[in-house]
Amino acid sequence: MTLQTASPTARKATPEATARTAGASALEAALRQFAAAADHLGLDDGLRAILRVPQREYTVHFPVRLDDGSIRIFTGYRVQHNVARGPAKGGLRYHPSTDLDDVRALAMWMTWKAALVGVPFGGAKGGVTLDPAKLSSRELEAVTRRFATELEGVIGPDSDIPAPDVGTSAQTMAWIMDTVSMHRGFSVPGVATGKPLSIGGSAGRADATGQGVLYTIADATRRGGFTIEGARVAIQGFGNVGEATARLLHQAGARVVAITDIGGGVHRPDGLDVPLLRRHLQEHGTIAGAPGTRPIDNEELFALDVDVLVLAALEGQITANNAGSVRARILAEAANGPTTPDADPILARNGVVVIPDILCNAGGVVVSYFEWAQNRAALAWRADEVNERLRRQILAAADAVWQRAGSDSISPRLAANAIAVERVAEATRLRGLYP
Ligand code: GLU
Repeated sequence: MTLQTASPTARKATPEATARTAGASALEAALRQFAAAADHLGLDDGLRAILRVPQREYTVHFPVRLDDGSIRIFTGYRVQHNVARGPAKGGLRYHPSTDLDDVRALAMWMTWKAALVGVPFGGAKGGVTLDPAKLSSRELEAVTRRFATELEGVIGPDSDIPAPDVGTSAQTMAWIMDTVSMHRGFSVPGVATGKPLSIGGSAGRADATGQGVLYTIADATRRGGFTIEGARVAIQGFGNVGEATARLLHQAGARVVAITDIGGGVHRPDGLDVPLLRRHLQEHGTIAGAPGTRPIDNEELFALDVDVLVLAALEGQITANNAGSVRARILAEAANGPTTPDADPILARNGVVVIPDILCNAGGVVVSYFEWAQNRAALAWRADEVNERLRRQILAAADAVWQRAGSDSISPRLAANAIAVERVAEATRLRGLYP
């Protein structure tokens, strides 16, 4: 078969084509990182074969009536990568580029994250391919309730527990919890985490990922011989994670000099007024154009002369093409998979210390575990108890990562993945093969 030159129209990337590429490269990154950890550990072929594929994958297509009376078919996914260490756990993403490969990659990262921070869960991820900004609240509720219904028998407090992720929120989790509860005839709070406080959510869960990012950055700056106070920080993303991270860093005395979101970006070398940005976002739907700031785009933000660069948006942001321009001392991966494997050696050569995603952003799943445990015990912990437990759990994992990186002379990412893969491999081996 000969390959024909694509016509200009065929080459024009459709949204679906772009989505496939993004998901495929996230999966390729996850698999390359896994292979590096497996090689480092000398993992045997059997365990390697088991751990590199997801255990279960669900794809569902379902109709929802839109506000204009028309019917649209939505496609949703739930992938359970590995459940050797406990029930499957991971977020639900509503994003136009969500596809099966993307969810596969994110599910695998959840397995390693839960293992690294020592919460008794396996890894999962799910999502629906949609742009939440283009649907009304009623339409989003209908999508969520129908998707939860399609996943009946898949999700549950003992089997698979969703949480918020990109494009979803505490409200999304409330709809899932209510839908499952309606079907069962009684309240099932443990079916989702990241719920609103009034229906079984945990104190501290909303800010938990940002809080964990702050703890890992404070730990890394201390190891680097400086402090958060007065450190110059740039942040990509001002959503669930980026906003909390910006606010908490600002409160801790850091000078947040630049932030970007989907609508643009803001730069102020003397430090941004973070509370004002939050109000600007509420009024205008973006932080772009906030008074007293100049516009900045992502590539310019990545190259800023700052102490800490926080990536709190999507996968595949720092690549071989732009890694060389990063001047930060610390790169904090608050998002999942924001740095590609080809970028890693370039960053390392330039002395940029990477706090790997499965450590940096694990605060969310740690407090999700606390929420699930509180729901099962019918207890409610105070915010200060939650935060103290979170701090201890994240710092213990951070210690293990930096120690392993030192003892094996490897990067923090490889150290984090090696610790995690080792734990999951051990659980998988001990449980054995059925039948
Ligand atoms: N979506 C978050 C993550 O990527 C939280 C997952 C959870 O709490 O289950 O870690």
